[in-house]
Amino acid sequence: MIVYRTRTDLAKHLKTWQDQGKTVALVPTMGALHEGHASLVRRAAQENGAVVVSIFVNPTQFNDPADLESYPRRLDKDLEMLQAMQVGVAFAPPVREMYPEEDRRTFDLGNLDKVMEGARRKGHFNGVAQIVTKLFDLVRPARAYFGQKDFQQLVIVRHLAQLYDPAIEIVPCPIIREKDGLAMSSRNILLGEEERKAAPFIHQTLRLAREKKGLMTPEEVRHWVSSRFENQPLMQLDYFEIVEDKALRPVTAWDEPVNKVGCIAVQLGKVRLIDNLNFT
Ligand code: AMP
Repeated sequence: MIVYRTRTDLAKHLKTWQDQGKTVALVPTMGALHEGHASLVRRAAQENGAVVVSIFVNPTQFNDPADLESYPRRLDKDLEMLQAMQVGVAFAPPVREMYPEEDRRTFDLGNLDKVMEGARRKGHFNGVAQIVTKLFDLVRPARAYFGQKDFQQLVIVRHLAQLYDPAIEIVPCPIIREKDGLAMSSRNILLGEEERKAAPFIHQTLRLAREKKGLMTPEEVRHWVSSRFENQPLMQLDYFEIVEDKALRPVTAWDEPVNKVGCIAVQLGKVRLIDNLNFT
């Protein structure tokens, strides 16, 4: 595996792949890789001639400096893992390489960044849009792989790709979970022992909420979920929403002919965790 640090060096390698007629896939990550990331990489390798995995903790998508500071970084381990998976190229640039000057671009994401994560983390999705479009411009992949774990991000990236470069196919990949149901996340390693034990409650709640479908209205299920968190000393519910999967509009009746997704965000100690489940 070759690890590139600069855009110019990566671009040279991409040119050789292009000359060989290879279909190139991009898997963007922020590192501290786990099985969730690995599932994207494997799928990308199966479906394409060559894969670029980017590892970059993108500062512009962090609205909280403390979160950026504490975000796990372990590049050596990540590269070992990618090497073992026979990835051809990893791209791990320093911040100045991606942002030689301040990126002042603002993206009109309509309603998509006004709800859920976007409403709570001001500027987060604009930062995501900045880095994703920079990576798309650089790599010009045939396909880019994103996890359903970050469901709102996936919807936004799909929307961006359609506007920006419709030739790029956005491939959604299912959420990979720990045995106890907790969605894998780089942030899970920041959980204390008691917090880690409590964390599967989030996924359990999503599953139980889905079972209420038909017995309660969507609004009643929202209340039911918030009342469940009142007895949880370690966790604060940030939001629980049931939304349709295109415009992220809240679902008001189960018989609406749309795909429905239950989305949750929880503060567990210093760590903010998100998860979601198909409620269709
Ligand atoms: P991150 O490094 O957290 O920015 O994630 C990089 C990519 O991996 C994103 O497309 C995520 O949605 C995806 N991802 C993260 N965790 C998981 C997971 N548990 N299952 C599937 N995909 C994931």
